[in-house]
Order: sequence, then structure tokens, then C-alpha cells
Amino acid sequence: MPGLYIHIPFCRQACTYCDFHFSTSSLYRPQLVSAIAKELDHRASEWQDEPMNTVYFGGGTPSQLSSQELEEILNAVNKNYRLTNGAEFTFEANPEDLTEEYLKSLKSIGVNRLSIGIQSFRDDDLIQMNRAHNAQQAIRCVLNAAELGIHAISIDLIYGIPALSDAAWIEQLETAKQLPINHLSCYALTVEQGTPLAKLIKQGKRSNTDDEQAERHFRILQQWASENNFSHYEVSNLAKPGGKAVHNSAYWSGESYLGIGPSAHSFQNNQRRFNIPNNQKYIRSLEDGDAAHEIENLQDHERYNEIILTGMRTLNGIQKQKIKEINPKYYLYFHKLLENHPDKDSIYITETSIKLNPSAWFRADGIASDFFYLSK
Ligand code: SF4
Repeated sequence: MPGLYIHIPFCRQACTYCDFHFSTSSLYRPQLVSAIAKELDHRASEWQDEPMNTVYFGGGTPSQLSSQELEEILNAVNKNYRLTNGAEFTFEANPEDLTEEYLKSLKSIGVNRLSIGIQSFRDDDLIQMNRAHNAQQAIRCVLNAAELGIHAISIDLIYGIPALSDAAWIEQLETAKQLPINHLSCYALTVEQGTPLAKLIKQGKRSNTDDEQAERHFRILQQWASENNFSHYEVSNLAKPGGKAVHNSAYWSGESYLGIGPSAHSFQNNQRRFNIPNNQKYIRSLEDGDAAHEIENLQDHERYNEIILTGMRTLNGIQKQKIKEINPKYYLYFHKLLENHPDKDSIYITETSIKLNPSAWFRADGIASDFFYLSK
């Protein structure tokens, strides 16, 4: 069953490391909210009344939306889409926005899962990253959300920050453990080109990241998860029993999804659609009927490569049948490469799947790319 993703491209301020599509300007904001509602109207017919299994507000910062703006978008969702019973409704939020009143309004509209961008419980890290909250707000908002009855709470943390010692990283995880969360997403700090962080490093004002430190932090995370009842079910995601993210898990297993908003992607019938990552052009295009977008028809080898990439990163692994369904020749191709691969002892094959041993997960993307099929 498909999922619905809605991209909210506003942020209070720009985090130094971020390369997502967002704007810190409020200019055109009402028009953009209306354009999102319009796109929801316009594209409903593509999905032929298929019920949505998940709704996910991501960004950017969805918690920058006022209750009225949120209502306008939700009305368009409810008018045009059916949701399955008990559909997962995730809302990404930043701690500084999660006042008690805002949390209550999220609960009242049916949000049943919060994904909170905490990133660090250390004020120094937060200042360096130009986050808009402090450590105390981070802890308080999680406690408040749980007290108000939102029981599925995920938090994001970043490791591999140059100033974060191994001991300090363990402390971060121990702080997370004390909180009423059932999901944790942990990402290595990466320096993306064109970000303020890349510039600061170039100017010598910040230290560069260090792969060895990031790998040590990743191994600490693996060890910590195994000792604390968290299933490390994807390279960057950990869940307590029953806490796995339904929406994201559907991406990794190749389910269809509808992406609404500037820069949002959609996937259906081997076709990817990329909405334009520009707020003004997005608004203007909706005035003419549909969001400006590009379409890519995935070729067989591209589908195979995606299955390898996402599957290599998950505990469930790559489902053999999915490769064979594309074309059995890709399964033979994989096997041929495996024979001489330096990590062949870390890859094991079960009756139904191909799995990468978690001890090699830190290098999952690189290992996966070794098995890509490159079209001639
Ligand atoms: S709040 Fe999130 S989307 Fe916005 S700049 Fe920071 S990391 Fe990027």
C-alpha cells in the first residue's frame, strides 16, 4: 500500500550541515501552503482511490506550520485520499516549536508519531550546528509529547561531530535511553558541498570530519543498541519492539509513494517523479495546474541497483525474489561479482535473502555500489 509524503520547505534558520530543500524566508508562505493543497487535489486521481498506509510530513521543518496552515493542507488530504485504518501519521518537528499547545494540536489532528530533530543533547554542538534549540528544550519536548499521549516518538542524533569524544557520544545515547522514545535515527555528520559547514571548513574555522571517529561512534552505537533492546534494523535506524518506522520501511522495500511539495519525489510503476526544488516556481506551476516536475522511467538495471543499495543497509537484507523478478540475469551477475569480492565473507545468503553482516554496515553504501550493474 502506498504512502503519502508532504514536504514543508520552511526552516527557522539554516543548520550549517544541511543540504535539504528549505527556505528561511516567510515570503510566499501562504501561497506555498495553498499550492501544496492544490497539488494534493490535482494528483489524487493518479492513485485511483488506493488507501494510503502512511502520511509523513517532512522537510524542512513541518512544525513551522501554524495550526491554520496545517489545517488547510490536512483538509486537502482528507478530501482527496483514503487512509487505512490505523495509518501511521508521522510529523517531523523541531524542539523549539513543540510547545504544549502545539503538541496538543498535533494530537488532535491525528498525528500518532513524532520525529524530533534533536541532533545533540549538548549545547555546544547545537550552537556549532546553528540549531535553534538547546539541550533542555530537546529533553522537555519529548517528555511533554509522551505526557500528552503521543507514544511513538523518534529522535534524530548526529555522531562523528569532531568535538564529540567517544565518551560524550555514549552519554548522548544514555540520555536518549532515559527518554520515552521508541525509535532512534542516528546519522554521521557529512560535509555536503555548498553547505555553510563546507565553507567554514575550507576557511579553517571548523575541523573536518574524520572517518575513523565516525566508524568508532557507529560501532559504539551498534554495541549500545544490542545492550538496550533497540533493534538496529537499518544502518541509520533503531527501534524498540513494535517501533519500526512504517513509512520509511516502505521506501526501503520499494513500495509506491506519492510525494507532494517542492523537491518531493514520488515512485509508482517503475517511474520516479521529481518535483521542482524551487518554491516560487513550484507555486507558479500550480497556478497552471500541476507542479513543475521531471519524470524518470527506471530501467531494469536501475531498479536492481536500488534494491541492492537499500537492501544492503537493512537487517532484512535484499529479497532474492525481487531481483529475479526484474530479470534472473541480475541475480547471476550478483553471484559472479560476489565470488571475488573482498567482503564476500561478510555477505551471506539465506533461502530468501542476501544480507550484509552488521559488522560491515559502516561501509554498506560502498559495498553495495560494487555490485551495481552499469549500463553500457
Ligand atoms: S531544520 Fe532540518 S531541514 Fe531545516 S536547515 Fe536544519 S537540518 Fe535542514
